[in-house]
Amino acid sequence: PETKLPHVGTTIFTQMSALAQAHQAINLSQGFPDFDGPEALLARVDHYIRQGANQYAPMTGMPTLCAAIAAKVERCYGRSLDAAAEVTVTSGATEALFAAISAVVRPGDEVIVFDPAYDSYDPAISLNGGCAVHLQLQPPGFAINWDTVAQAITPKTRMIILNTPHNPTGQTLSAADMQALQALVAGTDILLLADEVYEHIVFDGAEHQSINRYPALAERSFVVSSFGKTYHTTGWKIGYCVAPAPLSAELRKVHQYLTFSTSTPLQLALADYLTTDPAHDQALPAFYQAKRDRFNARMAQSRFSFTPAAGTYFQVMDYSAISDLPDTEFVLWLIEHAGVAAIPLSVFCQQPPEMKLIRFCFAKHETTLDQAAEQLCKI
Ligand code: PMP
Ligand code: GLN
Repeated sequence: PETKLPHVGTTIFTQMSALAQAHQAINLSQGFPDFDGPEALLARVDHYIRQGANQYAPMTGMPTLCAAIAAKVERCYGRSLDAAAEVTVTSGATEALFAAISAVVRPGDEVIVFDPAYDSYDPAISLNGGCAVHLQLQPPGFAINWDTVAQAITPKTRMIILNTPHNPTGQTLSAADMQALQALVAGTDILLLADEVYEHIVFDGAEHQSINRYPALAERSFVVSSFGKTYHTTGWKIGYCVAPAPLSAELRKVHQYLTFSTSTPLQLALADYLTTDPAHDQALPAFYQAKRDRFNARMAQSRFSFTPAAGTYFQVMDYSAISDLPDTEFVLWLIEHAGVAAIPLSVFCQQPPEMKLIRFCFAKHETTLDQAAEQLCKI
């Protein structure tokens, strides 16, 4: 019998992390920090568990966390929210993305995604009977060509999925992109799903172009983020979705049967921490830019070539001076010959263009980055 996701195997992140472990390679593949979140945040989790906050949270999220999220969105982007009706806490951004897509995509609907695309969008679209329309972004800049998007829009277009800062390329959308998007969707009922999990990791003094800054876009958008990236806690799987009340209501219908609610003590701890240390977010660009620059300075001595990431904790590198292998084979070769694991970019594309690009995660201790770069400089 035909399976529902015939083209889906085990994710590249799971595969590469397993290979890294098997070969005892330095793991710069799957995106996660090799350091902990702030001590004050960790202590609050312990506190709440001991206090007995161990039963179901409210379906839409702990009110204190929803309020802290609303305050953060107002402080960062000037958008004022009704925390009770427009903020939903989810089990990671992954759940928010799946719930948003499931809430609105109907059989036959088209959803525009930009390749390379984060791997969870496509399966969610097809499980709901939708059709993903893939538009390929071209290296090295991976900019969106808005004329191409305009041509791809049909009466069946239900949604456009955006991701800025962008995984895996490290590129960001500009204010001009947001204006172009605004002009494109004006007068249509196209919905937007904005994956902004790296919202606080933007470099070189740039400002994150959140949908939350643009009222004409926000009124038709699900904006998704994740505490995993901002607080170095990817294993906690706490994310959230901001959307106007009618869209949030639809998302919640799915959320309540997907997971119902999300870890109580972790939500309470995050609510405290967000309220007491808003400066953490503001320090994140400099914190990660120092890691990017340290890694890149050492990698400048290698045979890889690259342009520095504009955001995220990923750096894409071109290996065409080293090997003719396709990227999926090159990463296997690299584990064996350099002892470093990376992610090939072609797995995020429906029809990969000619590119010899791989992604390294630099959310690592300086010693990890230095050791990896030293090994990569030898090949
Ligand atoms: N979207 C993007 C672009 C990501 O990189 C990630 C994290 N890998 C997610 C969504 C999922 O976030 P979470 O771990 O909070 O589910
Ligand atoms: N988002 C992480 C990455 O891009 C991986 C998340 C996962 O393993 N599913 O590496």
